[in-house]
Amino acid sequence: MVNYKDLGLVNTREMFKRAVAGGYAIPAFNFNTMEQMQAIVMAAVETKSPVIMQVSKGARNYANGTILRNLAKGAVEYAKELGCEHPEIVLHLDHGDSFELCKECIDNGFSSVMIDGSSLPYEENIALAKKVVEYAHQFDVTVEAELGVLAGVEDEVSSAESHYTKPEEVIDFSTRTGCDSLAISIGTSHGAHKFTPEQCTLVNGVLVPPPLAFDILHEIEKKLPGFPIVLHGSSSVPMEEVNTINKYGGHLEAAIGIPEEQLREASKSAVCKINIDSDSRLAMTAAIRKHLAEHPGDFDPRQYLKPARENMKKMYIHKIVNVLGSDGKLAQC
Ligand SMILES: [Zn+2]
Repeated sequence: MVNYKDLGLVNTREMFKRAVAGGYAIPAFNFNTMEQMQAIVMAAVETKSPVIMQVSKGARNYANGTILRNLAKGAVEYAKELGCEHPEIVLHLDHGDSFELCKECIDNGFSSVMIDGSSLPYEENIALAKKVVEYAHQFDVTVEAELGVLAGVEDEVSSAESHYTKPEEVIDFSTRTGCDSLAISIGTSHGAHKFTPEQCTLVNGVLVPPPLAFDILHEIEKKLPGFPIVLHGSSSVPMEEVNTINKYGGHLEAAIGIPEEQLREASKSAVCKINIDSDSRLAMTAAIRKHLAEHPGDFDPRQYLKPARENMKKMYIHKIVNVLGSDGKLAQC
Protein backbone atom coordinates (compact mmCIF):
# COMPACT_ATOMS: atom_id res chain seq x y z
CA MET A 1 0.00 0.00 0.00
CA VAL A 2 1.43 3.37 -1.06
CA ASN A 3 -0.42 6.48 0.09
CA TYR A 4 -0.20 9.49 -2.22
CA LYS A 5 0.57 11.79 0.69
CA ASP A 6 3.88 10.04 1.17
CA LEU A 7 4.73 10.92 -2.44
CA GLY A 8 4.02 14.64 -1.93
CA LEU A 9 0.91 14.53 -4.13
CA VAL A 10 -2.42 16.21 -3.26
CA ASN A 11 -6.06 15.32 -3.97
CA THR A 12 -8.36 17.66 -5.92
CA ARG A 13 -10.60 18.90 -3.08
CA GLU A 14 -8.94 22.20 -2.12
CA MET A 15 -7.81 23.17 -5.62
CA PHE A 16 -11.33 22.62 -7.02
CA LYS A 17 -12.89 24.68 -4.25
CA ARG A 18 -10.59 27.58 -5.09
CA ALA A 19 -11.05 27.13 -8.86
CA VAL A 20 -14.86 27.22 -8.67
CA ALA A 21 -14.77 30.28 -6.41
CA GLY A 22 -12.11 32.01 -8.51
CA GLY A 23 -13.64 31.38 -11.94
CA TYR A 24 -10.80 29.39 -13.51
CA ALA A 25 -10.10 25.73 -14.30
CA ILE A 26 -7.30 23.33 -13.38
CA PRO A 27 -5.54 21.70 -16.33
CA ALA A 28 -5.68 17.90 -16.49
CA PHE A 29 -2.98 16.72 -18.87
CA ASN A 30 -2.60 13.04 -19.79
CA PHE A 31 0.88 11.59 -19.77
CA ASN A 32 2.53 8.39 -20.96
CA THR A 33 6.19 9.31 -21.19
CA MET A 34 8.94 11.00 -19.20
CA GLU A 35 9.10 13.87 -21.70
CA GLN A 36 5.40 14.64 -21.27
CA MET A 37 5.82 14.58 -17.49
CA GLN A 38 8.81 16.93 -17.66
CA ALA A 39 6.97 19.34 -19.97
CA ILE A 40 3.92 19.37 -17.68
CA VAL A 41 6.03 20.07 -14.57
CA MET A 42 8.10 22.77 -16.27
CA ALA A 43 4.93 24.51 -17.48
CA ALA A 44 3.19 24.25 -14.09
CA VAL A 45 6.24 25.58 -12.21
CA GLU A 46 6.85 28.43 -14.63
CA THR A 47 3.22 29.55 -14.40
CA LYS A 48 2.77 28.73 -10.69
CA SER A 49 -0.27 26.60 -11.52
CA PRO A 50 -1.75 23.58 -9.75
CA VAL A 51 -1.87 20.65 -12.18
CA ILE A 52 -3.52 17.27 -12.60
CA MET A 53 -1.36 14.61 -14.24
CA GLN A 54 -3.64 11.90 -15.47
CA VAL A 55 -3.11 8.34 -16.50
CA SER A 56 -5.52 6.35 -18.64
CA LYS A 57 -5.88 2.59 -18.75
CA GLY A 58 -4.05 2.75 -22.08
CA ALA A 59 -1.17 4.66 -20.45
CA ARG A 60 -0.88 1.99 -17.76
CA ASN A 61 -0.77 -0.69 -20.45
CA TYR A 62 1.84 1.26 -22.38
CA ALA A 63 4.16 2.46 -19.63
CA ASN A 64 3.32 0.28 -16.58
CA GLY A 65 1.45 1.65 -13.55
CA THR A 66 4.41 1.42 -11.16
CA ILE A 67 6.63 3.40 -13.51
CA LEU A 68 3.97 6.09 -14.00
CA ARG A 69 3.48 6.42 -10.23
CA ASN A 70 7.21 6.86 -9.78
CA LEU A 71 7.24 9.44 -12.56
CA ALA A 72 4.56 11.35 -10.63
CA LYS A 73 6.64 11.08 -7.46
CA GLY A 74 9.59 12.34 -9.50
CA ALA A 75 7.40 15.16 -10.79
CA VAL A 76 6.90 16.50 -7.25
CA GLU A 77 10.63 16.39 -6.52
CA TYR A 78 11.45 17.87 -9.93
CA ALA A 79 9.02 20.77 -9.33
CA LYS A 80 10.81 21.51 -6.04
CA GLU A 81 14.19 21.34 -7.77
CA LEU A 82 12.90 23.86 -10.31
CA GLY A 83 12.20 26.25 -7.43
CA CYS A 84 8.55 25.58 -6.57
CA GLU A 85 8.49 24.96 -2.84
CA HIS A 86 4.83 23.91 -2.58
CA PRO A 87 3.77 22.26 -5.82
CA GLU A 88 0.18 21.04 -6.09
CA ILE A 89 0.29 17.95 -8.26
CA VAL A 90 -2.53 15.41 -8.50
CA LEU A 91 -2.02 11.89 -9.85
CA HIS A 92 -5.39 10.99 -11.34
CA LEU A 93 -6.77 7.85 -12.99
CA ASP A 94 -8.60 8.82 -16.18
CA HIS A 95 -11.61 6.67 -17.16
CA GLY A 96 -11.32 3.92 -14.58
CA ASP A 97 -13.81 1.31 -15.76
CA SER A 98 -14.07 -1.00 -12.73
CA PHE A 99 -13.95 -0.92 -8.94
CA GLU A 100 -10.90 -3.21 -9.05
CA LEU A 101 -8.89 -0.83 -11.25
CA CYS A 102 -9.78 2.17 -9.08
CA LYS A 103 -8.86 0.25 -5.91
CA GLU A 104 -5.55 -0.81 -7.41
CA CYS A 105 -4.71 2.82 -8.21
CA ILE A 106 -5.85 4.07 -4.77
CA ASP A 107 -3.68 1.38 -3.15
CA ASN A 108 -0.73 2.44 -5.29
CA GLY A 109 -0.31 6.16 -4.80
CA PHE A 110 -3.04 7.83 -6.87
CA SER A 111 -4.60 10.85 -5.17
CA SER A 112 -7.70 10.95 -7.36
CA VAL A 113 -9.60 8.48 -9.54
CA MET A 114 -12.32 8.66 -12.13
CA ILE A 115 -14.89 5.91 -12.20
CA ASP A 116 -16.58 6.01 -15.58
CA GLY A 117 -19.87 4.15 -15.43
CA SER A 118 -21.44 6.48 -17.97
CA SER A 119 -22.17 3.67 -20.42
CA LEU A 120 -24.08 1.71 -17.75
CA PRO A 121 -27.78 2.08 -16.95
CA TYR A 122 -28.36 4.97 -14.49
CA GLU A 123 -28.82 2.89 -11.32
CA GLU A 124 -25.77 0.72 -12.09
CA ASN A 125 -23.65 3.83 -12.71
CA ILE A 126 -24.71 5.10 -9.25
CA ALA A 127 -24.00 1.79 -7.51
CA LEU A 128 -20.52 1.51 -9.05
CA ALA A 129 -19.56 5.12 -8.34
CA LYS A 130 -20.81 4.84 -4.75
CA LYS A 131 -18.71 1.74 -4.14
CA VAL A 132 -15.58 3.50 -5.43
CA VAL A 133 -16.32 6.63 -3.37
CA GLU A 134 -16.75 4.62 -0.17
CA TYR A 135 -13.38 2.96 -0.68
CA ALA A 136 -11.54 6.06 -1.90
CA HIS A 137 -12.69 8.35 0.89
CA GLN A 138 -11.18 6.04 3.52
CA PHE A 139 -7.82 7.19 2.16
CA ASP A 140 -8.83 10.79 1.38
CA VAL A 141 -8.66 10.08 -2.35
CA THR A 142 -11.11 12.17 -4.42
CA VAL A 143 -13.46 10.64 -7.01
CA GLU A 144 -14.75 11.94 -10.33
CA ALA A 145 -17.85 10.25 -11.77
CA GLU A 146 -19.54 10.77 -15.12
CA LEU A 147 -23.10 11.33 -16.20
CA GLY A 148 -23.91 11.57 -19.92
CA VAL A 149 -21.86 10.12 -22.76
CA LEU A 150 -19.17 11.81 -24.86
CA ALA A 151 -18.70 10.88 -28.50
CA GLY A 152 -15.28 10.09 -29.94
CA VAL A 153 -12.38 7.73 -29.31
CA GLU A 154 -9.78 7.97 -26.54
CA ASP A 155 -7.59 4.96 -25.80
CA GLU A 156 -10.10 2.27 -24.92
CA VAL A 157 -13.03 4.64 -24.43
CA SER A 158 -15.20 5.14 -27.46
CA SER A 159 -18.75 5.99 -28.37
CA ALA A 160 -20.33 6.71 -31.74
CA GLU A 161 -22.67 9.40 -30.47
CA SER A 162 -22.97 11.71 -27.51
CA HIS A 163 -25.80 11.89 -25.00
CA TYR A 164 -25.93 15.19 -23.18
CA THR A 165 -26.11 15.09 -19.39
CA LYS A 166 -29.67 15.49 -18.14
CA PRO A 167 -29.70 18.35 -15.61
CA GLU A 168 -32.68 16.78 -13.79
CA GLU A 169 -30.46 13.83 -12.78
CA VAL A 170 -27.43 15.61 -11.35
CA ILE A 171 -28.67 16.26 -7.79
CA ASP A 172 -29.80 12.67 -7.29
CA PHE A 173 -26.60 11.32 -8.85
CA SER A 174 -24.12 13.43 -6.88
CA THR A 175 -25.98 12.99 -3.59
CA ARG A 176 -26.34 9.24 -3.83
CA THR A 177 -22.81 8.54 -5.11
CA GLY A 178 -21.03 11.06 -2.86
CA CYS A 179 -18.64 11.85 -5.75
CA ASP A 180 -16.33 14.86 -5.42
CA SER A 181 -16.67 16.07 -9.01
CA LEU A 182 -18.86 15.34 -11.98
CA ALA A 183 -17.84 14.91 -15.62
CA ILE A 184 -20.63 16.05 -17.91
CA SER A 185 -21.40 15.83 -21.61
CA ILE A 186 -22.27 19.16 -23.27
CA GLY A 187 -20.76 18.69 -26.72
CA THR A 188 -17.05 18.11 -26.16
CA SER A 189 -15.70 14.90 -27.62
CA HIS A 190 -12.68 12.59 -27.33
CA GLY A 191 -9.83 12.46 -29.84
CA ALA A 192 -8.41 14.70 -32.58
CA HIS A 193 -11.40 14.24 -34.90
CA LYS A 194 -14.18 15.62 -32.77
CA PHE A 195 -16.46 16.72 -35.57
CA THR A 196 -17.00 15.95 -39.24
CA PRO A 197 -16.66 18.91 -41.64
CA GLU A 198 -20.39 18.49 -42.35
CA GLN A 199 -21.18 19.31 -38.70
CA CYS A 200 -19.21 22.57 -38.91
CA THR A 201 -19.75 25.95 -40.51
CA LEU A 202 -17.06 27.66 -42.56
CA VAL A 203 -16.08 31.02 -41.05
CA ASN A 204 -13.24 32.94 -42.77
CA GLY A 205 -11.84 29.71 -44.18
CA VAL A 206 -11.90 27.92 -40.81
CA LEU A 207 -14.27 25.08 -39.91
CA VAL A 208 -16.09 26.06 -36.72
CA PRO A 209 -17.82 23.22 -34.82
CA PRO A 210 -21.25 23.55 -33.20
CA PRO A 211 -21.06 25.47 -29.89
CA LEU A 212 -21.01 23.71 -26.53
CA ALA A 213 -24.39 23.40 -24.80
CA PHE A 214 -23.89 26.24 -22.32
CA ASP A 215 -27.60 26.21 -21.52
CA ILE A 216 -27.22 22.69 -20.10
CA LEU A 217 -24.08 23.69 -18.19
CA HIS A 218 -25.89 26.66 -16.63
CA GLU A 219 -28.84 24.49 -15.65
CA ILE A 220 -26.49 22.01 -13.98
CA GLU A 221 -24.77 24.87 -12.14
CA LYS A 222 -28.12 26.07 -10.85
CA LYS A 223 -28.98 22.59 -9.55
CA LEU A 224 -25.56 22.08 -7.93
CA PRO A 225 -24.22 25.49 -6.88
CA GLY A 226 -20.47 25.41 -6.37
CA PHE A 227 -20.12 21.73 -7.26
CA PRO A 228 -16.96 20.94 -9.30
CA ILE A 229 -17.76 20.13 -12.94
CA VAL A 230 -15.32 18.42 -15.34
CA LEU A 231 -15.03 18.67 -19.12
CA HIS A 232 -13.45 15.77 -20.99
CA GLY A 233 -12.37 15.80 -24.63
CA SER A 234 -11.36 19.46 -24.57
CA SER A 235 -8.40 19.65 -26.91
CA SER A 236 -8.57 22.45 -29.44
CA VAL A 237 -6.59 20.64 -32.17
CA PRO A 238 -4.51 23.68 -33.23
CA MET A 239 -4.34 23.98 -37.03
CA GLU A 240 -0.70 25.06 -36.74
CA GLU A 241 0.29 21.62 -35.37
CA VAL A 242 -1.96 19.73 -37.79
CA ASN A 243 -0.45 21.68 -40.72
CA THR A 244 3.11 20.95 -39.51
CA ILE A 245 2.31 17.24 -39.25
CA ASN A 246 0.82 17.19 -42.75
CA LYS A 247 3.64 19.32 -44.20
CA TYR A 248 6.27 16.85 -42.99
CA GLY A 249 4.78 13.61 -44.22
CA GLY A 250 1.80 13.12 -41.91
CA HIS A 251 -1.74 12.59 -43.00
CA LEU A 252 -4.32 14.01 -40.60
CA GLU A 253 -7.55 14.73 -42.34
CA ALA A 254 -10.31 16.93 -40.95
CA ALA A 255 -8.94 17.09 -37.41
CA ILE A 256 -11.26 19.52 -35.60
CA GLY A 257 -11.33 20.46 -31.89
CA ILE A 258 -13.10 22.72 -29.40
CA PRO A 259 -12.48 26.45 -29.98
CA GLU A 260 -10.43 27.95 -27.15
CA GLU A 261 -12.87 30.83 -26.61
CA GLN A 262 -15.52 28.31 -25.59
CA LEU A 263 -13.17 26.63 -23.13
CA ARG A 264 -12.23 30.03 -21.75
CA GLU A 265 -15.92 30.75 -21.18
CA ALA A 266 -16.47 27.34 -19.56
CA SER A 267 -13.49 27.89 -17.24
CA LYS A 268 -15.22 30.90 -15.73
CA SER A 269 -18.17 28.73 -14.66
CA ALA A 270 -18.34 25.75 -12.27
CA VAL A 271 -16.15 23.88 -14.75
CA CYS A 272 -12.97 23.47 -12.71
CA LYS A 273 -11.13 20.65 -14.52
CA ILE A 274 -10.50 20.58 -18.25
CA ASN A 275 -8.97 17.46 -19.83
CA ILE A 276 -6.44 17.93 -22.60
CA ASP A 277 -4.74 14.96 -24.24
CA SER A 278 -4.85 15.17 -28.06
CA ASP A 279 -3.20 18.62 -28.17
CA SER A 280 -0.14 17.21 -26.40
CA ARG A 281 0.02 14.29 -28.85
CA LEU A 282 -0.21 16.72 -31.77
CA ALA A 283 2.47 19.05 -30.34
CA MET A 284 4.83 16.11 -29.79
CA THR A 285 4.27 14.52 -33.20
CA ALA A 286 4.53 17.84 -35.08
CA ALA A 287 7.89 18.66 -33.47
CA ILE A 288 9.30 15.17 -34.09
CA ARG A 289 8.17 15.07 -37.74
CA LYS A 290 9.62 18.52 -38.41
CA HIS A 291 12.92 17.71 -36.72
CA LEU A 292 13.41 14.41 -38.52
CA ALA A 293 12.46 15.91 -41.90
CA GLU A 294 14.96 18.74 -41.43
CA HIS A 295 17.68 16.53 -39.92
CA PRO A 296 17.44 13.21 -41.76
CA GLY A 297 20.80 12.09 -40.36
CA ASP A 298 19.74 12.31 -36.71
CA PHE A 299 19.11 9.04 -34.91
CA ASP A 300 19.67 9.92 -31.24
CA PRO A 301 16.16 10.09 -29.68
CA ARG A 302 17.29 13.04 -27.54
CA GLN A 303 17.78 15.09 -30.71
CA TYR A 304 14.07 14.94 -31.61
CA LEU A 305 12.52 14.42 -28.17
CA LYS A 306 14.02 17.66 -26.90
CA PRO A 307 12.16 19.86 -29.41
CA ALA A 308 9.08 17.68 -28.82
CA ARG A 309 9.29 18.41 -25.08
CA GLU A 310 9.79 22.14 -25.76
CA ASN A 311 6.76 22.24 -28.05
CA MET A 312 4.55 20.47 -25.48
CA LYS A 313 5.74 22.81 -22.73
CA LYS A 314 4.84 25.82 -24.89
CA MET A 315 1.36 24.37 -25.50
CA TYR A 316 0.80 23.61 -21.78
CA ILE A 317 1.82 27.15 -20.80
CA HIS A 318 -0.50 28.59 -23.44
CA LYS A 319 -3.44 26.54 -22.09
CA ILE A 320 -2.74 27.47 -18.47
CA VAL A 321 -2.30 31.19 -19.08
CA ASN A 322 -4.57 31.96 -22.04
CA VAL A 323 -7.37 29.40 -21.76
CA LEU A 324 -7.85 28.02 -18.23
CA GLY A 325 -6.54 30.93 -16.18
CA SER A 326 -4.89 28.78 -13.50
CA ASP A 327 -1.57 30.66 -13.56
CA GLY A 328 -0.49 32.09 -10.21
CA LYS A 329 -3.13 30.04 -8.41
CA LEU A 330 -0.97 27.88 -6.10
CA ALA A 331 -2.07 28.21 -2.47
CA GLN A 332 1.56 28.90 -1.53
CA CYS A 333 4.18 29.81 -4.11
ZN1 LIG B 1 -12.23 11.46 -21.21
